[in-house]
Amino acid sequence: MNCQDLAGRVRRARATWRRATRVAVAAALSALAAAPGAVAQGPADGPVAPPPPLPATAIAIKAGRLLDVRTGLYRRDVYITVERGRITVLGTSAPAGARVIDLSGKVVLPGIIDAHEHTGDDLFNYSAATRMRISAAQSALNGAYKVHQFLVRGVTTLRDAGETNVYYPQFALRDSIANGLIEGPRMQCAGMLISISGGHSDDDTTAVDFGLPKRPNIADTVDELRIAVRRDLKYGADWIKLMASGGVVDLYSDFRTQELSEEQMAAAVELAHRAGRHVMAHAEGTAGIRAAVRAGVDSIEHGTMLDEESAVLMAAKGTWLVPTLQAFQVGIEPDTGSGMDPEMLRKLRDILQYQQPAFTLALKHHLNIAFGGDDTAESVAGEFVALVKGGMTPLAALQAATINGARLLGLESETGAIEVGKAADVIAVDADPLADIGAMKQVSFVMAAGRVIKQP
Ligand SMILES: [Zn+2]
Repeated sequence: MNCQDLAGRVRRARATWRRATRVAVAAALSALAAAPGAVAQGPADGPVAPPPPLPATAIAIKAGRLLDVRTGLYRRDVYITVERGRITVLGTSAPAGARVIDLSGKVVLPGIIDAHEHTGDDLFNYSAATRMRISAAQSALNGAYKVHQFLVRGVTTLRDAGETNVYYPQFALRDSIANGLIEGPRMQCAGMLISISGGHSDDDTTAVDFGLPKRPNIADTVDELRIAVRRDLKYGADWIKLMASGGVVDLYSDFRTQELSEEQMAAAVELAHRAGRHVMAHAEGTAGIRAAVRAGVDSIEHGTMLDEESAVLMAAKGTWLVPTLQAFQVGIEPDTGSGMDPEMLRKLRDILQYQQPAFTLALKHHLNIAFGGDDTAESVAGEFVALVKGGMTPLAALQAATINGARLLGLESETGAIEVGKAADVIAVDADPLADIGAMKQVSFVMAAGRVIKQP
């Protein structure tokens, strides 16, 4: 592809993005104007719509094939009864008076739990300056658009893996969904991306002559790190996000190199766990992975240079891995690298050689693996394909995105399986995903906590 093709594509993509954002702004404003109890009925397929009220009568979903994600077995012709947002019966008939949704020809499974996304980024601009050009307000509105895109693709629970904006637009998004202002998946959020100076999330890319004041996500000592963590906890972080190693999409860091010290990360774990919250660590290089695991973090994100010793350590400690495979694979195609600096593209090509050996080790040591995309909503299905291509069985990939994700997020009693008492997070696909995981590309039905989001 030549440069003009690429420029044209980026321009067109940006125009679509701007149009969508304008619709999102209008919808968010009208939702804000309405009283929280009196939500209007919006178009089901619009980019952003206030959620419809929970139906007063029971809904019975007739599932042609219902996947038990714990065993991988199908039950045929099951009626899932949903009342006030919860699954109340799994039976052989619909209760009297229930509204029946006929999914006889579909495969029905639990809603997807995506444990690694960033709702506030501009995904059409990966340039070094992009993070200095998105306000917290814009970031929250980007998120309002994006969460709907995830929802219609079957993601009913989403963990925001931290934002670069230090004013926490992701918390506003999470709370607006929880309060019924906008429609979206159930969310948990990490706070700031906590980084060393010059590390993977030091967003000041100006020359030394123009250097910005030190931002609150930068922590060069244990005490600075404690202050950053306490700020996150104060304003409502469910997760603390630590940069344990360098990364790819920045100008300065080396993904092989450890960044935050083990002592700093241990301090973060101590504070977060004391407050009943959790810690996730971006870790690519081996030393960063090892230090983060030893410090006691709950999940390693990416783990791209995992070695035998760190895999053994993770297995022993029960540390989670969220591998985000396809985000690295798709990035090497030139038309998706919009705005990327040549240095970032070089790092992206370089890091890919480590991914498969590390993932093979993770499988060999039976690590706890949860599903995370770290990309656009359109890429969720691609992550399932990448996990299976990388060596997981289709069932294991689906478990990563359901029961495992629920365990990682502490939501086992709420979601992750279609079982009596749980929230009604139910999706359907057209073909058997155990035979071909590519079936996850065609999500034709979505119910989130009892609300029908999408129907065939
Ligand atoms: Zn990420």
